[in-house]
Amino acid sequence: MTETVVSRANTRMEQSHPSSFWHTFCDMNAVSQKPKFVVSRAEGVWLWDEHGDRYLDGTASLWYCHVGHGRSEIADAVHQQLTTLDAYAVYGDFANTPALRLSERLASHAPMDNPRTILTCGGGEAIETAAKLARKYWSVSGKPEKTHVISRAGGYHGLHGFGTSIIGMERFRSGYGEIVADTSVVPYDSVRALEDEILRVGPERTAAFFAEPVIGSGGVYAPPEGYFAAVAELCRRYGVLFVVDSVICGFGRLGDWFGIERFGVRPDMIVFAKGVSSGYLPLGGVITSGEVAEPFWERSGNPFIHGTTYAGHPSCSAAALANLDILEREDLFGAAEEVESQLDAAVRMLAEHPLVREVRSGTGAMAAVELTGEALYERGVTTADVFAEARSRGVIVRAIPRSLLVSPPLTVTWEHIDHLVSTLRAALDAVEERHPR
Ligand code: PMP
Repeated sequence: MTETVVSRANTRMEQSHPSSFWHTFCDMNAVSQKPKFVVSRAEGVWLWDEHGDRYLDGTASLWYCHVGHGRSEIADAVHQQLTTLDAYAVYGDFANTPALRLSERLASHAPMDNPRTILTCGGGEAIETAAKLARKYWSVSGKPEKTHVISRAGGYHGLHGFGTSIIGMERFRSGYGEIVADTSVVPYDSVRALEDEILRVGPERTAAFFAEPVIGSGGVYAPPEGYFAAVAELCRRYGVLFVVDSVICGFGRLGDWFGIERFGVRPDMIVFAKGVSSGYLPLGGVITSGEVAEPFWERSGNPFIHGTTYAGHPSCSAAALANLDILEREDLFGAAEEVESQLDAAVRMLAEHPLVREVRSGTGAMAAVELTGEALYERGVTTADVFAEARSRGVIVRAIPRSLLVSPPLTVTWEHIDHLVSTLRAALDAVEERHPR
């Protein structure tokens, strides 16, 4: 064990990679002065850095690699598509077979009537699409004043324009001025607060409510019992579109297609990305109910003038189709339920650790380990310290300001989970030792 620790990349301070590559999501001043963590190869639940050291992928990259890395079946499907029709735009009446097949397949699993699918290049782009479509829907339905969008504290919806404005974490919003007007955020767990906000804004001005089934990158927060049933009822009552952001929760992470089925409600739109292609190629999209599509499909003169160059990309769609084949054939939906309970059982043990305030797990194949205020604010511990210790021991977890997050590929075994959690414990121990009370 000691030998492995010593050989890991973050102890190789002598090496650096002078580069013009601008890493976003971090302090570039700090990152530019240190060696980069260059990922060179990945297979199954493992990845290797450029020095040949191996790591367990405890986060499925950024919550997306549900089928695990290195699936030649997806590579073959993409190769086949690239050599048949590499790419061609889908504006107007142009289409391609993989995009058509993918749209149909996704719609067939969506918990809504007569669903329609819009494809995008990722999650943030899909959020923009859903938010603009919500406003446009009301506009073409004779209610152009319904523009206000409500979202939840802790919710993450990508970092494009609308996404930045509706995100439920202040640190992602500050410094850009107001990007989109008419947005507000309510507590993640209170139906009453949502109703109060709809009434404050006015139902006649409220267009949509956006929510993740389980809040993911905001820290793994499952909804209280009965929350979504009440929310769906509220949205129906006040004429507010209920938009589910399934970017993290879809494609098995919660054991089903879109993560919202678990709560037994039918949304007006579903936003998806990540697990739809397991990230082999970028892809996302929006599924709308037939009711939302109606003014655009059943009446002429209402084009939804929106889209991007690469939306409906045939090779990305081919990757997604091959990925969905694997998810279904290997029943990774069922496997996810086992991962959920095994991860829950393992990670709960960390709740006893002196640095740990709370463990959140048991709804989906994901978990958060939150550190105590004492550790963070009095002893000077950071989640980045724990992350670095875990990585130096060969396990990748994710650090957000107060918590460590795990969301492994759905192909992990009990041995992998055990290794992940015991390494996280060792990392916590090492950090604790460096920060005595
Ligand atoms: N919604 C949620 C719930 C997400 O987790 C993310 C990405 N982490 C997004 C939207 C944005 O997706 P993308 O990064 O592909 O733009």
